[in-house]
Amino acid sequence: MKTQLVLLAPAVQVGADLDAWFAQGGGEGLRAALSNPTGILSTLAEANLRGLGGAGFPTHRKWAAMAAQPAELEKYVLCNGNEDEPGTFKDRELLEKSPHQVIEGALIAALATQANHVYLYVNPHQHCAVAVVRQAIEQWRGCALLAEVAKHQNRPIDLAVVESSGLYIGGEETAVIASVEGGFPFPRQKPPYPAQSGVHGQPTLINNIETLAHAAHILRHGAAWYRDLGLGDACGTKLYSLSGDVLRPGLYELPMGTPLHTLIFEHGGGMLGERAFKAVFTGGPSNTLLGADDLDVPLDFDTLKARGSSLGTGAMIVISEGTSIVRKVAEYVDFFAAGSCGQCPPCKAGTYQLSRLLRRIDTGTGLPNDLQALESLCHLLPGSGRCGLIDGAATVVLSSLKQFRNEYAAQVIAVG
Ligand code: SF4
Repeated sequence: MKTQLVLLAPAVQVGADLDAWFAQGGGEGLRAALSNPTGILSTLAEANLRGLGGAGFPTHRKWAAMAAQPAELEKYVLCNGNEDEPGTFKDRELLEKSPHQVIEGALIAALATQANHVYLYVNPHQHCAVAVVRQAIEQWRGCALLAEVAKHQNRPIDLAVVESSGLYIGGEETAVIASVEGGFPFPRQKPPYPAQSGVHGQPTLINNIETLAHAAHILRHGAAWYRDLGLGDACGTKLYSLSGDVLRPGLYELPMGTPLHTLIFEHGGGMLGERAFKAVFTGGPSNTLLGADDLDVPLDFDTLKARGSSLGTGAMIVISEGTSIVRKVAEYVDFFAAGSCGQCPPCKAGTYQLSRLLRRIDTGTGLPNDLQALESLCHLLPGSGRCGLIDGAATVVLSSLKQFRNEYAAQVIAVG
C-alpha cells in the first residue's frame, strides 16, 4: 500500500527554521503560484483538494468565491488551527513540527484571492505550537519571497498570529471571524458567508491549516502527483488522529481512502489488550459511530458519507468490547453541553437535558422512558442552533442508540 508522507515527512519537520524549509524545497509551491497566479484555482480543482477541517468542501470553490470579490477591498485569509475537539490533535502537531508549509499555503491562498491580511489563528492552550508559529512568522517577515507576494498584490501583506479563545466553538467559521475582531466567539447564522462579509465586513477566507499545507505541496509538485497519492477515487493524503483502545495511538499520515481496518490494525497495532473491536467515533465525537461491520470502509469523504457517517477532522476514537458506549457518549455530550455558548436556547437547554439523561442512564438510575426522551430530543434539536454543535451532540446520541440500544436498555431500571 502507498504510504508516502507529505505533511509529516521527516524532511519538512524543520520547526520554525525557514532556511531549513527552503533548503529542502520549501517555497517552490509559492514560487510556482507567483509565476502563474491565475492558474492556482484550476490546479487545486484538478487536484480535488477539499477542506480537511471537517467539511470536505472543494477548496477551489471556496477560494473562487473570495477571489470574485473586488481586489481593492481589505481581504483576510484566516488559517484555522483552533482545534479543541476530543480526539483531534493533528493541527497542533503540524504547527509544532512544520509551520512553514501552512504559512506558504496561506500565502498561496492570499495570492489566489488578492488578500492582504493573513492570520494564523491558533489555540492558546497549545503553548508550544503558538511559540513555534510566532517564530516562524517572524522569519517570513524579513523574507524576499513575502516581498514578492506583496509586490504582486501591490500592497503590504499583514502576516500575524491571532490567539483564539481556546474554546471549542471558537473553531466555527463565523466564530473565528468574531474572535479575530476581538469579540467573544459567538457563531452567527450564514448567509452572509465569510467570502461576502467576514472580518469587519470584508471578504474573508477561512481554511483549516491541514488544507493550506496541502495547497503548498500541490502547487510545488502538481495536481497529478497529489491525486496519485490517494487510494481508489480519493486524492492526496490525510492526517488521522488515532486514539482510544488501540495499541499505538498517534497521528498517522496515510493515503486518503485508507481502509479503517488498515489504520487500526496495521498502523495502530490492533486493539489494546487484545480486546475485541466494538466501535469507532469517526471524525471526532460529533458523527455517526461505525461498528465492526464497517471496518472495511475506506476513510474518505464520499464513502463515509454514503455510510451515513463523516470523515470530519480525521479523528478516529476506537472503542473496545468492555468499554461502555453510554459512558463515552455521556462524556462527549458533557463536552458539548459545557461548550454551548448559550445564544440558542434549544442548544443550551437541549445539550443540558441530553447530558442529564445520559448521566442518569450511565449511573444506573435511568428509566425506560429516558430512552424515548433521548430519542425525541435528538429528532427535535438538529437545525435549531446557529452552528453545528447541537447537531453534532444529537447525531452521536442517536447513532449510539441505534447501534447499541441493548446496552442502553440494560442500564435502565426495569419498571412494572
Ligand atoms: Fe452557541 Fe449552541 Fe447556538 Fe452554536 S448552536 S451558536 S454553540 S448556542
